[in-house]
Amino acid sequence: MQQDTLYKTVYQYNKTPLPPSDMEKLAEIAQDYRQVKNAVYQRYGGIQSLPKLYPGYTVQNEMTKSGLREQMGLPSVYFYSAIFDALGDIKCQWSHTKNRIETCIRDNPNLTPAERHYLRFVMKQSQCLEAILLEREMHLPAAWRKSYEAVRADITEEHRLQQYLRRQVRRHLKKMHTDTANGFSVPVKGYRYDDHGIYITTKERGQRVFVPLTDSNAYSRQLYVQLDINEGNLKISVPIETRIRKHPEYQNEIGLAMGMKVMFVTDQGTIYGKDYGIHQTALTEYIREGARRYRQNKQNNPGRKKYLAGRQRREATLHNYVNAEINRMLETEKPGVVYLPKLPPVSGAGINKKINYSVSMWQKGYVRKRLEIKCRERAIPLIEVFGKGIGKKCSRCKADGERQQELFVCPACGLTLPEKENAAKNALQRGNAQAGNT
Ligand SMILES: [Zn+2]
Repeated sequence: MQQDTLYKTVYQYNKTPLPPSDMEKLAEIAQDYRQVKNAVYQRYGGIQSLPKLYPGYTVQNEMTKSGLREQMGLPSVYFYSAIFDALGDIKCQWSHTKNRIETCIRDNPNLTPAERHYLRFVMKQSQCLEAILLEREMHLPAAWRKSYEAVRADITEEHRLQQYLRRQVRRHLKKMHTDTANGFSVPVKGYRYDDHGIYITTKERGQRVFVPLTDSNAYSRQLYVQLDINEGNLKISVPIETRIRKHPEYQNEIGLAMGMKVMFVTDQGTIYGKDYGIHQTALTEYIREGARRYRQNKQNNPGRKKYLAGRQRREATLHNYVNAEINRMLETEKPGVVYLPKLPPVSGAGINKKINYSVSMWQKGYVRKRLEIKCRERAIPLIEVFGKGIGKKCSRCKADGERQQELFVCPACGLTLPEKENAAKNALQRGNAQAGNT
């Protein structure tokens, strides 16, 4: 199954903590945003409002007329974002409800197949469903009318089924409400990127809060701003579509081995991410030191927040490095296919192992995931090969060899290679063999 577009979310962070006065202005928006959402949930979250949800203009118009926006003094960019946000949640809630009811219909032993068929039909046809739930007369287009009459013909107790459906909806459609006020969506009109940061519209006319960012990327789409009010931090989520770009010149078949010190070694012995181990160790040491201090002084944890910020920073450094090196690898190697040994299964014992072990496994998972995504973006198949013993077999004669420090030495044929290069050569060969077998 080949898709043309990939969806992902990228994040942006503030470079320095926001001054409390600026954070207050953003927190104000978050408060109002929550209030608007709750107002929409309350008015339109119930059964009676079902006909208003699609396409939603009615809700927008009614909310405009409600005067709530003027009362709060909330800029319209936020007001309407909050409405659509809440409407999205309500629609989601409806589809969850329908899913749950479908399960109930399936599992209910008192329903005959014809009755199930009837219920499923009316749940799919929105005009039928609305009419039944609101106990109104049904006005169906001619084509639907005919199929509706057909499913009706097979049942005898329509009234009972409709009651059943209403009861189910009342039972499963939850009242929505949100207490958290730590974020808001902001459409393109509500912000501007400039000066290595972002200017965000506030409730004061013409006033924007400037937030310096750790990167200088600029986007033009609806953003979600999440606030960490106490810490003066924020996180911006940006939904991104990337088109898959296939590179016809990418034709090479490569085998890769992943390591703890260097990130990748290819079957040709080329190294990518040679400083991976350094960044990874820095993170591990930091976490270990943090854990040690935490154990010593559990009661009053001074600097726990500072610790978390430091950890986040080291993680970001490592991740930026990983991504840059994966890009460099793909651009240099131009692979048409990548073979990679399967990760060994995580054993239960791993949970209690030392911190450095768990951190390295977790970061290895990250490298793996990023490699997968980046290959997918370029339409490069990433194929896992059988990983057992891949470091022990000689890639030239298949005999069992030995590791001497970081070298692989074959006693049978005398091959001497960096251990990872030998493993990567085996990955390529196993990949080729696998491809030949299928
Ligand atoms: Zn050998």
